[in-house]
Amino acid sequence: MRADSFSTIDPDPFRQAVRQFVREKLPSDLRKTIARGQQPTPPQLMAWHERLAADGILVPHWPAGWGGRGWTVAQQLIFDEEMALGGAPELNSITFDMIGPVLMRFGSAAQQQRFLPAIASGKQWWCQGYSEPNAGSDLAALLTRAERDGDHYVLEGSKIWTSYAQYADWIFVLARTSRAGRPQEGISFFLVDMKTPGITVRPITGIHGWSVFCEVFFDKVRVPVQQLVGQENQGWTIAKSLLEFERLKLARIAENKRRMARVREIAVSRTRGGCRVADMPWFRARFADLVSRLMALEAHAGRFVARQAAGEQLGPEVSMLKMRGSRLIQLWEELMVDALGPEAMPLSPQWLAGLPDAPAQDDLAGTASSRRFLARGYTIAGGTSEIQHNIIAKQVLAL
Ligand SMILES: Cc1cc2nc3c(=O)[nH]c(=O)nc-3n(C[C@H](O)[C@H](O)[C@H](O)COP(=O)(O)OP(=O)(O)OC[C@H]3O[C@@H](n4cnc5c(N)ncnc54)[C@H](O)[C@@H]3O)c2cc1C
Repeated sequence: MRADSFSTIDPDPFRQAVRQFVREKLPSDLRKTIARGQQPTPPQLMAWHERLAADGILVPHWPAGWGGRGWTVAQQLIFDEEMALGGAPELNSITFDMIGPVLMRFGSAAQQQRFLPAIASGKQWWCQGYSEPNAGSDLAALLTRAERDGDHYVLEGSKIWTSYAQYADWIFVLARTSRAGRPQEGISFFLVDMKTPGITVRPITGIHGWSVFCEVFFDKVRVPVQQLVGQENQGWTIAKSLLEFERLKLARIAENKRRMARVREIAVSRTRGGCRVADMPWFRARFADLVSRLMALEAHAGRFVARQAAGEQLGPEVSMLKMRGSRLIQLWEELMVDALGPEAMPLSPQWLAGLPDAPAQDDLAGTASSRRFLARGYTIAGGTSEIQHNIIAKQVLAL
């Protein structure tokens, strides 16, 4: 198929083009990994990124000058949905939705030239060094220090919950460069090569058996001044802007639809006591409830998309999308486990530990429990549900 099939903005042909692309181009090994609900390996993901880049659709929401296509939010949402339903992995949002757009807005010309083409080619992986052991929701409490020493800054401190840091080429780091004024005023934003001497990455294995995040330690790490983004002590503004770039994606409609399709697949293929799970009243009631929630979420997100397309600035009410979308993923994963019943029990300690010699299972049953535990993080990462509630209470409802 031709890459310019994506140039239409008519939603139906556009959807068809994405569907055809994923059907034809998704490598079979990656398709199988995702169909089993397993974590793709870095080489599988990098090969997929490069495939998408070759067809010009790895960063389609970026401007054309930087390798994008300037797609609208509506197009992006259709793209994400068809990718998910076609069995493709979720793309690395930190690299493509966060640091890329940040560099476009705040990076120097030299930083843009150095990093944006590499990211758009699919060959560079980034991670996000914000959270620390005592600075998560209260991010401004962060303690990692950066002290100027000639034409370098010297980083000292540690980060935690850094997603996929063990695979990343680069990390963007928030570090304290001043103690004067409010805590937010003394923070700077750095780009750090993960190969720099003094960086230690320690993966954390979760209850699900996967190492999806890490601790990252900085021991006198020397970072050239050219890798400071924006001005010293102005990092907070940049840090806060990150989420703006992907606010509408936070509803995670595509990932919810992927879960809905998976639950349906299991429910129609399993029987208990001679009855298909899909025909059991308890299952039907819960499935219908979740489908209704998903439809409501989609309609709600659609209203935001329309407002944004009309040039309106979206306010703090977007927090609702993150809260609802992340909780709904958890509910799908819970329903999946209940639909599978005893089959959802991990097959072996090796499987639970994510070891390579764990027996492979041909469908989603082998990973259902792990994925249920993994989904627990959705209402925490990117701002907890309690914090979203606070935002809505204070800034939307003026309580
Ligand atoms: C899967 C996953 C991936 C992540 N990836 C990254 C990453 O790549 N990079 C990164 O920097 N960080 C990452 N994080 C960290 C994430 O941003 C933090 O976990 C999150 O901001 C919460 O911070 P905390 O863990 O320190 O919890 P805390 O802020 O200590 O919160 C603990 C509990 O107290 C509640 N709470 C805190 N403050 C308030 C308040 N004011 N009002 C009401 N309740 C409150 C919280 O909701 C929570 O329930 C990730 C987390 C997860 C789960």
